[in-house]
Order: sequence, then structure tokens, then C-alpha cells
Amino acid sequence: MDWKNLPGGGGGIEDRRGSGGIPGGGIAVGGVGGLIIALIAMFFGIDPGAILGDGSQPQTQSQSQTQNQSQGGPATDEDYQFVDRILTSANGVWGGIFKQAGRTYTPARLVLYTRGTQGGCGVANSAVGPFYCPLDNKVYIDTAFFATMQRQLGGGGDFAYSYVLAHEIGHHVQNELGIADQVEREQRSARSEAQANQASVRLELQADCFAGVWGNRVGDQAKITQADVQEAIRTAQAIGDDNLQRQAAGRVVPDSFTHGSSQQRIKWFTTGFQTGDPNKCDTFNQNYNQL
Ligand SMILES: [Zn+2]
Repeated sequence: MDWKNLPGGGGGIEDRRGSGGIPGGGIAVGGVGGLIIALIAMFFGIDPGAILGDGSQPQTQSQSQTQNQSQGGPATDEDYQFVDRILTSANGVWGGIFKQAGRTYTPARLVLYTRGTQGGCGVANSAVGPFYCPLDNKVYIDTAFFATMQRQLGGGGDFAYSYVLAHEIGHHVQNELGIADQVEREQRSARSEAQANQASVRLELQADCFAGVWGNRVGDQAKITQADVQEAIRTAQAIGDDNLQRQAAGRVVPDSFTHGSSQQRIKWFTTGFQTGDPNKCDTFNQNYNQL
């Protein structure tokens, strides 16, 4: 993949790296931790235990302040450039798709941070992995997460990281389309937790499919190869609920899935990637057992 060939500079990135973390100092754990863990379960589906259990400790304040100190103007480091090009290209792709359908699209925004930061959905913490906050339309990511993916979640790689970002931007697209609200209403009136979880799985698989649509639309420009696609598939395999549950608890409870199985995540990402057609991403009007 040649991501440097994608357009960048579209704006919408807040670089909060090295800013010392959450106002008030200190990383918020404990009380807020439960909320954060629930958030990540909702948005990305990484088992926080798997990430927290890697023995790494949050950086101390002095360490984080020495790096990536913002000096006015956008940063030029590789992480920033990468995130910028994925965000700009994805906003471009979705802006075009919305325009063609006669709808308006408000570009997604993105917050880069280290350790922790305050956001519209509460405190974002490095341990949770990337997520999208529908309340402020922003994707939150600590780029240290890419290293976590490399170590623990399928091996990483440029296109694997792109898949994760494009999945989060997919949630923004769902927000723009009103799908996220609809799912939230459905979940509130669900008769059981299993039913609420099914709505979540449909939403997450659609975000995977939307990530694939982005990949299709930029495939030529970014020179995406079959090997790149395999990176994304390895990630989808690694973050499937069945795989995460098997690793965490040694058993699989399908009723508790919130993001879908490895096989389902691969299937929907591939559907989006092969067709480039968001209309093929309708995970809501399908028999649940055939997703
Ligand atoms: Zn998600």
C-alpha cells in the first residue's frame, strides 16, 4: 500500500499528543474505567483486558511531554501524515457518495492523543483503542494502538491500520445517515440483552463493510495489493468476538457478541471492498443467522 499517494491536508485533526493528557493531570482509571471499557466494547470490540494485560504502563507525564510537542501548524511525523491521509481520503470518498445520493455529508473529525484526553463521550484513554464518539463526531486514537495491533491483534500493517480507522469513520457515516440513532432506539426497547447485542452486531458489521467500501474507492490510488487485503483480513480475524472470547475466557457465547464473529467481520469487510457499493452493506435487512 502506498498511503502517501492519498490526498492529505483535509483538516479536521486535533493533535493533542504530548499535551500532558487529561486536564487535572493523571490518567483516569477506576471509576471512569468501566465506562471506557463499555465504550470500547461498543465501538471497536477489542477486549480491553487483552490490551491492559500486556504489562505496559501508561507513560509518565514527563516522558509524554518530551515527544511530539506541538509547535504550531500541523505535525509532519509519519503517524500524523498517515492518519491525515486516511481521514482526508475517507471524508472525500463519503462526501462524494453522499453528494451523488443528494445528501449532505459533514466530514468526520479526528483527535490524536497520548495517554488520555477529554472528549464528548467522556475520557478517552490509551488502553481502550480507537473509537468514534457520535456526540462530537470525532474519532479518537492514540497511535500507540498501532503497535498493540502489531503485537496482539493480527500483526498490523498499513492497510490493517487503515481498516481500523476506516471502520471508525464508518461509524461516523452511520451517524450521518441516522442509523446510529435508530440502533440506539432499538436497543433501548430491546426485550433482552441478546436482542440489543444483535443490533450492535449489525451496526459493527456495517461499519466493517463501509471500511471496505473506502478501501475499494482508494484501491488504485493507494496501490492496495492482495497482501494488503490479507493484513485487514488477519485483523478482522483477530478482533472477531469469537476469537476474543476464546482467548479471554476459553469459550464462546454467541448471544453476547457485540461486533460479530471473525468470519462475519471478514465477510462484511470483503463485501464492501469487492463491491465498493455502500448499498451492499445493508446488514439490517437480513436474517440475523445469515449475516
Ligand atoms: Zn465499531
